[in-house]
Order: sequence, then C-alpha cells, then structure tokens
Amino acid sequence: GAEAVLLETLTLPTEIERTRCDQCGRFLPEKDGLCPFCIRKWDTLKRIIGFLAPYRWGVIILMLSSALITGLELIPPILVAHIIDDVLVPAGSPGSPGSEVVAPVGLGAVELLGTLVLGLLAVRLLSWGINLVNGFVRADLAAWTGRDIRSRLYGNLQFLPLRFYDRRKVGSLISRFLNDSDRLEMFLLFGVPYVLSNLLMLVGVLGLLLYLNWELTLYVLAPVPLIVAASLRQWRQLVRYWTRWHAKWSRLSTHLTESINGIRVVKAFAQERREEERFRTRNDDLRQASVSAERVWFIFYAVMNFLMSFGVFLVWYFGGRQILRETLTIGALMAFVSYIWQLYQPLQFFSQVNNFITRAFAGAERVFEVIDARPEPFTDPRAVPLPVVEGRVSFRGVAFGYDPAKPVLKEVDLEVKPGEMIGLVGRSGVGKTTLVNLVCRFYEANRGILEIDGIDIRRIRLEDLRRQIGMVAQESFLFNGSILENIRYGKPEAPLEEVFRAARAANAHEFIVQKPDGYDTLVGESGGRLSGGEKQRIAIARAILRDPRILILDEATSSVDTPTEKKLQEAIRRLVQGRTTFAIAHRLSTLRHADRLVVIDEGRIAEMGTHAELMAREGIFYKLVRTQQESSAVMAVGGGRGQPA
Ligand code: ADP
Ligand code: MG
Repeated sequence: GAEAVLLETLTLPTEIERTRCDQCGRFLPEKDGLCPFCIRKWDTLKRIIGFLAPYRWGVIILMLSSALITGLELIPPILVAHIIDDVLVPAGSPGSPGSEVVAPVGLGAVELLGTLVLGLLAVRLLSWGINLVNGFVRADLAAWTGRDIRSRLYGNLQFLPLRFYDRRKVGSLISRFLNDSDRLEMFLLFGVPYVLSNLLMLVGVLGLLLYLNWELTLYVLAPVPLIVAASLRQWRQLVRYWTRWHAKWSRLSTHLTESINGIRVVKAFAQERREEERFRTRNDDLRQASVSAERVWFIFYAVMNFLMSFGVFLVWYFGGRQILRETLTIGALMAFVSYIWQLYQPLQFFSQVNNFITRAFAGAERVFEVIDARPEPFTDPRAVPLPVVEGRVSFRGVAFGYDPAKPVLKEVDLEVKPGEMIGLVGRSGVGKTTLVNLVCRFYEANRGILEIDGIDIRRIRLEDLRRQIGMVAQESFLFNGSILENIRYGKPEAPLEEVFRAARAANAHEFIVQKPDGYDTLVGESGGRLSGGEKQRIAIARAILRDPRILILDEATSSVDTPTEKKLQEAIRRLVQGRTTFAIAHRLSTLRHADRLVVIDEGRIAEMGTHAELMAREGIFYKLVRTQQESSAVMAVGGGRGQPA
C-alpha cells in the first residue's frame, strides 16, 4: 500500500509554464500564477479568518466593542429628536412666549434639556472609551497576525524545492512579504470587524427607520437596488485592475532586486542610464495601473454618493409633506435624516470594502500559494532513515530535464562504488551540475532510478541524505557574517580546532589569519568582500567541516590560480580518501587522480575510464584535453611575447 502511494506521488506532472487560466482561459497576471477570477472567494475568506483563530479572546473583545460602538451610535438621533420635539418646538410655538404659564413649564424644559444633553454626553464618553479599547486590541491583533503570516510564509518558503524558485521571480516572492501580508493583516483587522459592525448598523438602522416611519423608509431604500447592482459589477472590474497593478508592482520590484544584485555588472557595462530608463518605464506603468484602478473606484464612489443623496432629497420632500399634514414631527424627521446617513454609511462602506477586499483577496491568494506549495518531504513518515551512508551511488536509466519536454540527461547508467572518486567531464552546459543536483535530490529524475546504498533516493529521509552530502557549488555563496560563521554554517557547534583543521585542509587558513580580523573578518553580503578564490576555499572548508560521506566538488577550484590549485588538489586528494566523490573541474588535468572519469555528451555517458585509458582511446575526452593544451600553449606563447629575450 505505502509503496503504491509513494510511487503515485513520484510521477511528475508535465511542467509547462501556464500563461492562461485552465478554467476560464484568461491570461494570467503572472506565469504559472493564479487566476484572480477563478479563486474560490468563500474558501479564501474562511482561510483568511483562520489567521485570527489563535487570538479568540482578542477577536471577541474586538467584535463586542465594535457592536457596542455601533449600537451607541444609534442613540443620539433619538435624543436629538426628543430635544427638538419636547423642548425646542414647544418653546418656540406661538402662544407660549410672554404668557405667565411659561415659567414652570420652562423650568421643566430646561431640566429636560439638561438631561437629554447629559445623555448625549454620556453616549459620547462611553463610545469614546470603548473606541479606545477597540483600538488597543486591534493594534495588538494586527501585530500578532502580521507576525504569524510572515512566519508561515517564511516557514514554508525555506522548505520549498528548488523547482519552485526556478519558476518565480525574487521580487514577486519578496512582495508577498512586504505588500500582500500587510494587506491581509489590514483586511483582517479593519475589514472583518468593519464588515460585521456595518452589517449590524445596517440591520439596526433599517429596523429603526421602519419603526419610525415605514412609508418614508421605502423612499430611502429606492436607490439601494441600484447600489447593489453597481457594486456587483464593480467587483470584476476592480479585480482586473488590481491584479494588473500587482503584476506591474512585481515587475518593478524584480527589476529593483536584480539591478541591485547585479550592480557590478551594470557599472562594468556602464548601463546605469539604461537601467534607470527601464526602471522609469516600469515605474510609470505602475503609476498608470494604480491611476486606472483608483479611477474606476472613484467614479463608482462618486456615483454611489449621488444616488444616496437622492434618497435624502426624497425624504425631505415627502417627510416635509407629512409634517405639513401633521402626521410627522420635526424631531422625527431630523432623526430620520440622520439615520439615513447612518444607513448609507455601511452601504458606502461596502462599496469601498469592495476595493479593499479585492486587493486583500488577491494578496491572500498569493500568500496562500506559497503556504500551500508542497515542500520537500523532510518529514515524510514513510521515508527510510539512513543515519550512516556508505556511499554507493547508482544511476539506472536516469532521465531528467528542468522542463521534461527538453531533457538534459536522456539516459544515464552509472555505478559508483563507496569511496570512489568520479571525475565528471563534458562540454559546458552538457548537464554535469544537473547530474550532481540529482544526487543531492535538489531535483527528482523524470525517469529511471537513482539509488544510494541500494535505496531509491526518493525513499531516503531527506535530512539524512543531505547531512551526508557535502557540496561545493559552482558559484560559492557565503552569508553576510564572519568567515568563522560561514565555515561553521553546516555544523554550528563545531569546536574551533575543528574549524581550523578544515580551513587548513582547504588551504584557507593561511589567507584567513593574514586578514586583520582573522576568522572574524566580515565577508560582506554574499561574500562580496572576498576574492573568488577566497570564497571558494571557504566554501570548501565549509564542506570539509561537515565530514560528508559523499562529496561534490562542482568546479570547486576554478577561481584559484594554478599554484593554489596545486595545493588545493593535494588537500582534496587527502579529503576524498574514503568518500564517494563527484568532481567537476574545468581544468581537466586536475582530474588526473580520479579513479574514473565519466564523459557526458548529449545526455548520455559517452566515455568512461581512467585518465590514461581515455587518452589512449582518442575519443571525446582526448579531444577536450588536446584543445585545452593547445589553448594554454597559445597563452604561454602570448605571455612570452611580452618579454623580449
Ligand atoms: P554544466 O554541465 O555546465 O554544469 P548544467 O547542468 O548546469 O551544465 O546545465 C545543463 C542544461 O540545463 C543547460 O542547458 C542549462 O541551460 C540548463 N539548466 C541548468 N539549470 C537550470 C534550471 N534551474 N532551470 C532550467 N534549465 C536549467
Ligand atoms: Mg556546471
């Protein structure tokens, strides 16, 4: 059973970039992205609200206080109506001024006025206090959920397979942290409570209006169907505009991250102006996108406002007529008018929220895309634990392509004995790095089986596998920090002596101690303050410190000069003792002491054997070596010409 399930999950879907939505056929804002029209809104809403689940009490307080504030807002118009009808109108009515009867009535009226105004004050004070609590809780919840969303994003981001990163832009990923998580947080803390309290307000006001005067209420409601219809139409339009806005934004931030990372290249080729020009175009695109989105919304908002005031005109006219017929009091009409605004306010809010929700939902979907992406199976309970790897690696008919339709490796069969050193040779771009990527399980083979110690690599516990592989990648990446921290990266608890030993073995100790700060020297962002050769030697030390059973050296010595490389070669020769090693080297002479050389060509193993055997064979390898020898001879001659004898 488990086998079958495992096999089922192993089949890879065809990975072709999608530019259109599968369901509706619309163009996607981002390749392989989500279709904003086909997202399930209800599910999304439920998931968004799920972020509040851990803070139940805060949410309850927030909701209760919002409801209370709403309820309190309904009281003042009633009090004002009483002030008008019971105090002001009798006082101002003809017949009463000048007469002696007024005095006692006036006294009672002043008291009543005082009480009513005090009532207004009390309501205001109470709602002010509750507002304060509400604001505090909201700020607190916002900070917590913001933190949670970012942690969830990062928590999964780290565990996602390289395939995920291959197909996404850094800028787009970063904007999920910066914009989308923020928007989600805003929605949760302003959107959700406001929707609820406005709903309450709507129901409350409508009830009161109907109670006060059902006839007038019908006039008030006259524009509502129009408002609802317009809002619904609005949704689609806004979705379109905001997704476009996001796509532009993501392009802009991609440009930004890229040009900052590549600032050296930009400068070397004096392309600052062109980059600036391109940035300006994109920046302008973004401006245009936000202008058109805001415009759509603003037109809608203006129309809505007009429709609503239309309801108020109707009420003044028909309410006024009722007063003339003495079926309505002035106070009641005043209260009615205030309630209308309170009724329209939530309606208006819903039309605003449309804009708000649309943006939040689009952001939420992008956040969920990262959270939902399937991580590498680090915690697969069915995985086979492999605490000690012996180091036997076998490829059986392995085929792989980053895009399965364009295979890089077509059929690789290779048996590597434990402790054997394999030199991988082939033209640039032939798939050497790809082959070792498969050993690390950075990618999975599309076809065929890759086994380590006789166990299918897909069944080995990923952590065990990676712990026993040491890799010096083609482009050695260092983290911003000290040299010591970088060497210790894979084994933070390693004692200093061990670090020194590793550094010596990597021929790095010497140059490190010559630096003013020694091992505490800061390497700068991605190691930018070190030379390529220094970076590589630190990367080698980092791999050595891990003491891996399987060692991968991908052009590990390409950035060092020949004398240093000679020394490094000795170090590596010591290092590879008893470890299965895959070494890729640009200078073929450095692979001389490999147990076996494997020549890859056209996705297959073309030749295999020792250095001497392959030279004798006079095949691809022989030709590669000859070309290199010739070019170095030319260089030697060229160098000699500079110094006339
Ligand atoms: P090399 O033998 O020089 O190490 P690689 O294994 O790096 O060659 O690359 C083999 C082929 O795969 C190249 O054509 C390269 O363009 C392509 N390739 C490498 N990495 C990726 C990737 N992450 N996504 C798509 N294609 C890739
Ligand atoms: Mg390579």
